[in-house]
Amino acid sequence: MRYSLMRTTILILFFSTIIQLSAQNPSTVFNIPIFAYHRFGDDRYPSTNTSDKVFEDQLIFLKENKFTVLTLGEAINLWQSAKPVPEKSVILTIDDGYLSFYTNGWPLLKKYGFKATSFIQTETVGGGDFMSWDQIGEIMKAGIEIGNHSASHAFFLNLPQNQIQAAFRDDLLKSLDDFKKYLDFVPDLYAYPYGEFTRDMKDVLKKEAVKAAVVQQSGVFSESSDPFAIPRFPMGGSYGSLQGFQDKAAMKALRVIATRPDSPFFTANPPEIEIDIAPGVLDVGKVQFFVGGLKNEIEIINTQGNPPSVVLKADKRLLFRRTFYTITAPSIDGKSWHWYSYLWINPLISE
Ligand SMILES: [Zn+2]
Repeated sequence: MRYSLMRTTILILFFSTIIQLSAQNPSTVFNIPIFAYHRFGDDRYPSTNTSDKVFEDQLIFLKENKFTVLTLGEAINLWQSAKPVPEKSVILTIDDGYLSFYTNGWPLLKKYGFKATSFIQTETVGGGDFMSWDQIGEIMKAGIEIGNHSASHAFFLNLPQNQIQAAFRDDLLKSLDDFKKYLDFVPDLYAYPYGEFTRDMKDVLKKEAVKAAVVQQSGVFSESSDPFAIPRFPMGGSYGSLQGFQDKAAMKALRVIATRPDSPFFTANPPEIEIDIAPGVLDVGKVQFFVGGLKNEIEIINTQGNPPSVVLKADKRLLFRRTFYTITAPSIDGKSWHWYSYLWINPLISE
């Protein structure tokens, strides 16, 4: 009994030493909130729109508070070469290639001297509401990074599970051909349509030399992120306020070691998940659990585990196509808040 207690103590000391060492090394620890926008100054679609005024206020906030705005590619390069990431860094991303980015969003970025990453689905380029290839070429030359958002922007998860991988690969190759043909450039960054992905889809991206992929569940990009499932905070509609932006810009990653299960699909409803949390930084006893923005009860909090863990199950059945289990917690010193989201998808429900 005494021996095992001593062994546990030694183990805890050992792990806390590792964590302190890595916390002191800026090249290995970073927190980058990434924001996901769609439309700008376009009142017809309130849920995906950011008004010119709110977007400009957000950019002024970044400027006045001396944030570094990186492109996703710049951040991935810093991460992969273990170079330090500026402490207050954010990334601005824009999905779908709407014309309103060209007419309203981009001029504001230019005004404040900020870059962004624009994810384009190739089959809608040049359509009424979308940028043309000439316009995309123009913003690319001016420093906007171009990423891939598929060819067709399909709901790949609606296919039978054994057909998803092949269909996703076909679509990816088609999109790469389009980028090569119209921009003479092949993006190596990807954003999954609707933020929906599976392990099979991640494997396709890795095989086709894609470097990293972003999703739509909220959270902060950190050295603990899966490079093929990097979280982003949605901006637009009710999520798009200045206050919400400021809160998210200060947010840190809640570092997760493993989840059980590790798939967006579920059979029991509501589904249950166990999440292992990196030890040493968080006040795990204060973890809060939200489903669709509403606070839910946590089934089990195991603060003494090595690693500590939580077991989550929503209070009610999940009724939407996509549902997020979100956990937040303060650091032990109370100086920072940390955020993580897990995505569940029910492909039988349409959007
Ligand atoms: Zn999209």
